[in-house]
Amino acid sequence: MPGGVNSPVRAFNSVGGQPIFFDSVKGSHAWDVDGNEYIDYVGTWGPAIIGHADEKVNAALIETLKRGTSFGAPCVAENILAEMVIKAVPSIEMVRFVNSGTEACMSMLRLARAFTRKEMIVKFEGCYHGHADPFLVKAGSGVATLGLPDSPGVPKGATFETLTAPFNDIQAVEKLFSQNKGQIAAVILEPVVGNSGFIVPKMEFLEGLRELTNAEGALLVFDEVMTGFRIAYGGAQEYFGITPDLTTLGKIIGGGLPVGAYGGRREIMEMVAPAGPVYQAGTLSGNPLAMTAGINTLQRLQQPGCYEYLDKITGHLVQGLLEAGRNAGHKVCGGHISGMFGIFFTEGPVYNFADAEKGDATKFAMFFRGMLEQGVYFAPSRFEAGFTSLAHSEQDIDFTIAAARRVFESL
Ligand code: PMP
Repeated sequence: MPGGVNSPVRAFNSVGGQPIFFDSVKGSHAWDVDGNEYIDYVGTWGPAIIGHADEKVNAALIETLKRGTSFGAPCVAENILAEMVIKAVPSIEMVRFVNSGTEACMSMLRLARAFTRKEMIVKFEGCYHGHADPFLVKAGSGVATLGLPDSPGVPKGATFETLTAPFNDIQAVEKLFSQNKGQIAAVILEPVVGNSGFIVPKMEFLEGLRELTNAEGALLVFDEVMTGFRIAYGGAQEYFGITPDLTTLGKIIGGGLPVGAYGGRREIMEMVAPAGPVYQAGTLSGNPLAMTAGINTLQRLQQPGCYEYLDKITGHLVQGLLEAGRNAGHKVCGGHISGMFGIFFTEGPVYNFADAEKGDATKFAMFFRGMLEQGVYFAPSRFEAGFTSLAHSEQDIDFTIAAARRVFESL
């Protein structure tokens, strides 16, 4: 396997050391193949919001498994999960399930272009929308402004119509619209950024994007692969009260199995095949096991107090980490919403990718490795958000903060 892994960040390239191989996960904890135990703040990159290997999810999966692993034909579980998603997410009147966030984003893009009959898109520096060609435009650099691809193998033609702007900068987006009059199909963003570290949007930025896209006849797309059912049950759009035209989902709606989804207004979604002409399909889409894990995860999240609990423990965690860092004389900043958080090794504030890049990469790598030795698993990259779950206890948080004090003092 290239780099020994099946997804790059797992290889620890930016933090050094050897990647750990997991043997099992349960609740808020993970065990590696050598028997070491960790408190896990990666949560399989977001899906594990109710805790790993939840008993009820596992039991439901076993029952589903007995009836078969894949049908390649419609199943009732698809309808149940679709209804749950439609009811929860304000912008979604119709939904299509796929198998990953990448697939959701690439399918959404085709649809947005078909619906508007325009081809250009605006994305933001440091926002990740999966690895499909048109989204692989480097953040921040001159390459980005030229619309040149970020990875070899991506043809110029694939990113030629991808425009980029700094996150939280509405003027930059207005400028792109005035320079490309009538040609922009959609503005796509992570409403809370989790792929440059954790960055909160300014309210006037989200409001400005909604007004601007309405005025210009472009679609506003929230990529809620990470934030959906994470920062609120109805995602960032519920949390901020801004309704996009299209939404992509992934991670939590699959409860740890491979699922993505895209959805939005009925008139747009009715263009998707076979209702309409925009082609998109999948052998394993709507898989009964994946749907079952999603349904049972969302059911757990419907219980009262979940998001309040996540907000409380994650607030304690971030406050404790920042205090530990500052008391040991380090420049740190950070924040959280519900069970999503991040800290940067810079004074801040961090409003965009360029601000995030000011963080001290060497210090982060040392902090990461130090925490790992103490039994705490954070994401092995300074450009990733962290996640808590309903299974994280106050003791987990206290243990983590105590470990962070020791590690910060050793840096
Ligand atoms: N969009 C966002 C906002 C993401 O965070 C991710 C993955 N981290 C993706 C899309 C791609 O999802 P996947 O890895 O499931 O293809």
